[in-house]
Amino acid sequence: MPSVIFRKGLDLRHAVAGQLADDYHSAAVEHIKASDYTHRSGRLTVRLAREFGFCYGVDRAVDYAYQTRLKFPDRAVYLTGEIIHNPLVNEKLRAAGIRFLSDPNEHADRLGAEAVVILPAFGVTIAELARYERQGCTLVDTTCGSVLNVWKNVKQYARDGFTAVIHGKVHHEETQATASQALRYPNGRYLVLLDRAAAVTVCDYIRGKTDAAMILARFKNATSVDFDPDRDLQRIGLANQTTMLMSESLEIGELFRQAMIDRYGAHELADRFRAFDTICSATQDRQDAVEVLLGEHRFDLMIVVGGYNSSNTRNLARICMPRVRTYHIADAACVVSPTELHHQPVDMNRHGPSTLVNRTDETIARQWLPPSGPVSIGLTAGASTPNSIIGPVIERLEQCTAEAP
Ligand code: SF4
Repeated sequence: MPSVIFRKGLDLRHAVAGQLADDYHSAAVEHIKASDYTHRSGRLTVRLAREFGFCYGVDRAVDYAYQTRLKFPDRAVYLTGEIIHNPLVNEKLRAAGIRFLSDPNEHADRLGAEAVVILPAFGVTIAELARYERQGCTLVDTTCGSVLNVWKNVKQYARDGFTAVIHGKVHHEETQATASQALRYPNGRYLVLLDRAAAVTVCDYIRGKTDAAMILARFKNATSVDFDPDRDLQRIGLANQTTMLMSESLEIGELFRQAMIDRYGAHELADRFRAFDTICSATQDRQDAVEVLLGEHRFDLMIVVGGYNSSNTRNLARICMPRVRTYHIADAACVVSPTELHHQPVDMNRHGPSTLVNRTDETIARQWLPPSGPVSIGLTAGASTPNSIIGPVIERLEQCTAEAP
């Protein structure tokens, strides 16, 4: 039996609205937003960035997951993996009985037509989608429109004979799904690069300064099969994982543009180089808002709240760190006392997956809170962080400030 695919929800939005509000909203955060995004209590002032927390894509994905559970109470409902990179949200879905195909005891290849599979906001690869369709599963597709926009560009590159050069994390679900879109056409190719240093290496090759073997070795697990640098770097189109650091993506685009001009001349640029800004607007808004916050106020410290594996949260922390002491925390439990704050150190140079596997591996900061006098704290949160996590963090900051000697 062919798959049924729900792409626009399941007409149960109103039925799940109350549960979503209970699970993810915060009256305290709404109150602070209504108070010019500022909260004062005793010697503490907390200022929120004007854009923070759940983005439209995450909101929609979580909403659809709740609708799915309600719509199919008697069927096994699965997620392909984490719906978004926030542990609390994933735990709530598990608690509602949704199973995760990424768990070791689950077997995606054994699913049948009775299974309901929710595709995450990041999307899934072409091969994965094709398998669920073959198995006749009912699918609920929550792939974000901003991700679909990237796919559209990558498909056009492949159709027109351009190799997609994707600024992203090769193991991230979204980047894997995006890269797979290049393979919709027989001659589609891709190369994924993590950061500026990787881009410089490829640009050196384009300019003839390094050889193909070196590129193949360096990007061994980050290219389409049979990637041939001599053939596949003659015409390139830039794309990116939607949650990368905007400034870095733009810089990488410019590096490639210049390299293609150096190699082929400006007159050939239009035939050999394409670029579209595919950072999503929600990511960009959050990055812009934190820049504005830091530009308008002086803070003793900055708190960035979100999952440790959340790409966009980590990038928010990377924006803050050079300007002010910054702590990336997961939730209120990290704010233990005036002399103990648990966090994931902000890593300015390593963009790979988080190495912090267990909460017990968190770093402990002892002198994180000024012991006396006024304290000014800036706060933002990644696109996968619900207000129900942010509210208690502010409450703990308030309590610690009041407790401090
Ligand atoms: S971060 Fe952007 S691309 Fe990702 S779900 Fe949110 S809006 Fe969509």
